[in-house]
Amino acid sequence: MAERTMMRPIQMVDLVGQYLKIKDEVDAAQKRVIETAAFINGPEVKEFEKELSAYLGVKHTIGCANGTDALQIAMMALGLKAGDEVITCSFTFVATVEVVALLGITPVFADVLPGTFNIDPADIKRKITPKTKAIVPVHLFGQTADMEAIMAIAKEHNLFVIEDNCQAIGSDYTFSDGRTQKSGTIGHVGTTSFFPSKNLGCYGDGGALFTNDEELAKKIRRVCNHGSDVRYYHEVIGVNSRLDSLQAAVLRIKLRHLDEYAAARNAAASAYDEAFAGIMELSTPERSANSTHVFHQYTLKVAGGKREALRKHLEERGIPAMIYYPVPCHLQNAYKTARFAEGSLPVTEAITHEVLSLPMSTELDNEQLAHITASVKSFFTA
Ligand SMILES: *Cc1c(COP(=O)(O)O)cnc(C)c1O
Repeated sequence: MAERTMMRPIQMVDLVGQYLKIKDEVDAAQKRVIETAAFINGPEVKEFEKELSAYLGVKHTIGCANGTDALQIAMMALGLKAGDEVITCSFTFVATVEVVALLGITPVFADVLPGTFNIDPADIKRKITPKTKAIVPVHLFGQTADMEAIMAIAKEHNLFVIEDNCQAIGSDYTFSDGRTQKSGTIGHVGTTSFFPSKNLGCYGDGGALFTNDEELAKKIRRVCNHGSDVRYYHEVIGVNSRLDSLQAAVLRIKLRHLDEYAAARNAAASAYDEAFAGIMELSTPERSANSTHVFHQYTLKVAGGKREALRKHLEERGIPAMIYYPVPCHLQNAYKTARFAEGSLPVTEAITHEVLSLPMSTELDNEQLAHITASVKSFFTA
């Protein structure tokens, strides 16, 4: 009987495959942390913070427990309080909106742009009131939002900008004068998540904040550490949110591969783009004019109400495809308000019916990509 090699099963993200390539280094680093028992605030955390600051070109990186905490800590450190308004997008992972609401701040939603899925600066302007204190752009799916426009609005109205950079770490934003900066380092503070499936993911939970402002960096460290600079003396109400040393040790290794990981994601995205170019009912992801894309997700728009049928067609062929996000935050039961009733954010609401994200990881091989692209095409030609 003829031997036939089996295609590796396709997953949305292949974290085991990625681990196997750095296994020796990771295993040695974990052993080193365990043998020194420096689990909390150990040297691995400090070294990682320094190395990530150097990579991003930012003065201060402060590790914390996860990306949700990072957003909450940013708002606490900036002194945002109950009754303030924060403008963000509804087309995002719920964490962005959740922490705003938890602090008693009112989330005010701006619509997004239909091509890049990122927040629409023109709609931010329309949503500003005397209570507005901050803008939280989300760099969705791997591209930086239009930070030049957002920073100009913030300056004019004296607002803070907190970048939710959980999905775009490593992406480069270019200003009109040609200057380039990494996403997450442009606003007053940036936040990220090291959740395993994120572009820079650890092997559990983790997060970080970035800022160039020395005073703000001190306040962030204080909030993370129970509101304390000196042990058992508490200046402000804080939280307990730390990046642990085992995770920092993994992240130090993966940071050295981050650009190569982004290149692998871009190669997969290009293969998808090329294969789908002739399909009328599909829109491939639009590239922002000012930002590189690190493809946290490769997200298609499927026209003509065919999304569910395409998703099923792919599932039957062993290909997972996900809907990020099926219900925008303003229509979630927990966050519904009269002001943001159905119909209030037309672009957001339209794209939630069309988006479909294909498998995207650093480990997709040519055979898997060929199977995925052929399966998408066969749906439209059948
Ligand atoms: C993942 C994510 C978060 C939350 O990060 P956690 O580490 O899971 O708390 C927040 N915002 C966005 C846009 C995310 O993708």
